[in-house]
Formats: sequence, C-alpha cells, structure tokens
Amino acid sequence: MSNGSGLRALPKVELHRHLDGSVRVQTIWEIAAETGIDLGVRSLEELRETAVIREPVTSLSQALARFETQKKVLCSFHAISRVTRENIEDAVNDGVKLLELRFAPAFIAEGTALSNDEIIAGVLDGLSQGMARHPIEVGLIGILPRGFPASANERALEDLLRWKRGNAAGADRICGLDLAAVEAGIDPLPLVPLVDKAREAGLGITIHSGEDTDAAHIARTLQLFRPDRIGHGIRAWGSTAVMNRLIAEDVLLEVCPTSNWLTGSVPSLDRHPLPHLYRAGVPVSINSDDPNLMGIDLVHEYEVCARHYGFSREDFLSLNEAALRHSFLPRETLDRVKIR
Ligand SMILES: [Zn+2]
Repeated sequence: MSNGSGLRALPKVELHRHLDGSVRVQTIWEIAAETGIDLGVRSLEELRETAVIREPVTSLSQALARFETQKKVLCSFHAISRVTRENIEDAVNDGVKLLELRFAPAFIAEGTALSNDEIIAGVLDGLSQGMARHPIEVGLIGILPRGFPASANERALEDLLRWKRGNAAGADRICGLDLAAVEAGIDPLPLVPLVDKAREAGLGITIHSGEDTDAAHIARTLQLFRPDRIGHGIRAWGSTAVMNRLIAEDVLLEVCPTSNWLTGSVPSLDRHPLPHLYRAGVPVSINSDDPNLMGIDLVHEYEVCARHYGFSREDFLSLNEAALRHSFLPRETLDRVKIR
C-alpha cells in the first residue's frame, strides 16, 4: 500500500501479541538445527510452507499443527529468551512504543522438561535485553489455557505471582492475566477463583472471548470475570445489550483482523465487524495476535484497517489512545509513552 511507510512510522500501542505464537521462521530453523529437533522438513523454504498460515484454516487441527512447530523450539531458557527479544524487535519494527506480550507457561512446558520458573526466567531475560536495546515499554501477561488441567493452571498462576513479588530484573513487568484457547464447551466456573486471585494481586484481567463464540459468551465472560479487556470479542457486534455494556463499563476489545479471518472467525476481512464496533463507540484496539505464525506484521493490520475500513490517521490516533488508556502497566510508565 502506498502509505505503508507512513503507517510503519506511526507510534503504536499493541496489547495483544502471543510470544509463544509468533516465532520467526528463520529462528525456528536455527534453533532446530542447533538443538537437533526434527521439524519434518528438509529446507527453510519447506518450513515456510508448513509453519505459516496464509489461507483460512479448514480445521482446528490444521492450525494446532502449526502452533506445535513453534512450540517445539521453545525448548530452553536461551530459546525462550531469544524469541521474547525477537518479539520485542518485531514490535519495534512495527512502530510500537508500548507492547504487552503474552505467554502461557503451562502450554510451553507441556511435553518438555522445562519448569514454569525456567520459562518465566527466559521471558524476563529476553524482555530485559529487548528493553535495554530499544525505546519501548513492555508489559507481560500470563495466560492460563482453558481446558488445561486445573493443577497446571493453579501452579502457573502461583509461579507468575511469586515472580511478580520477587525482585528479578523485569519481574515488575508482569502486569496481566489472560484466559485463552477454546472457549465453547469449557466450563468457566473453575477458573473464576484464579482470575479473582490474579486481580487481588494487582494484575489486569483480559479474557479471550467471543472470537468464534456468540455474544452470550461475552456476556457470561463480563459477568463471571469482570475483565478490563477482552481478547477479540468481535461477536459483540449484533448484540446491543453486550455492546452497551462494553461501552458503559469501558471494557476494551483487543481486535486482530487477519487472525480472525485466518481462523475462520469472520468470512472475509471486508466483513469484519471492527469498523462497526469502532463507529458504534465500543472501545477497540488493533493487534497482530500471532504475526509470525500468520505471515503478517502489525503494520499489515493497520493497512487492512486503512484499506478495508477507511480508518484515517485520526482514527488510528484515537485507537492508540484507547489502547494506552487500557494498558495494564503502571501510570508512571504510561506517562513516558508518547504517541502523538
Ligand atoms: Zn490471542
């Protein structure tokens, strides 16, 4: 797009990016070669074909297989540190001035010998390196994957809170808790005490909800978890009651257009509800979700919004101001972020 470079330079706030869903293909290739991991491909080009989602997936297993390729290389403190640092570099390259990066210790640890402590230490190491090298403020959100054993999620939350209370470099950047993975058919009630505990410990709350599920799921999420923000939440469009509640309670939707198209949550980018939600006054923000997995960057999402939804620079400014206002980082940190 002709104004692509202008959009790259635009100062941005990004609240929804998964570090364990966005490993560069080159990095997957290099870590696999260093550690002897079999990726089942013979060349970097072949890896590019199999590790990146470019067309809407036809089944969940197709998407999960690609997540598995990324997850395979998150196999050590050093690999996790590198991937965290590279996520920060990618965001800097997108013009991001404030980034909230999220990760699921229990997901990364699953099937490996890694402890939550090694994973969190790796993320904090990469965060410290990234912030030392670049002019960016970074916050961390811990994810509890719905559907994981209760014991694994309880332990992950306890470990995250213990690190947050400690004095390791970067530990003060742990600022939020998220629930992610499949929402339909999962009983949310057992997760309520964990979210309450996180809120009491000072974490901001964001919940993946209403991505491919209906507005009733968002209403239930608002009722049970009282979140500050919602991951996706795009199915609020069409429910006046839910949209009014989001507006009245100032709950921001973290919207990720291309991700929603690739996972089949919307039929096309043109038919994404983002512009309608925005123009109806629902607090929204623009995010990349899993950019390396989806072969995009955040600038691409701004180009989509300009081209498909007619968003202007003033719109982008107002969206970034809303995102900044809803960041979980402390006020004194937010005051240092200049987006105008
Ligand atoms: Zn997400």
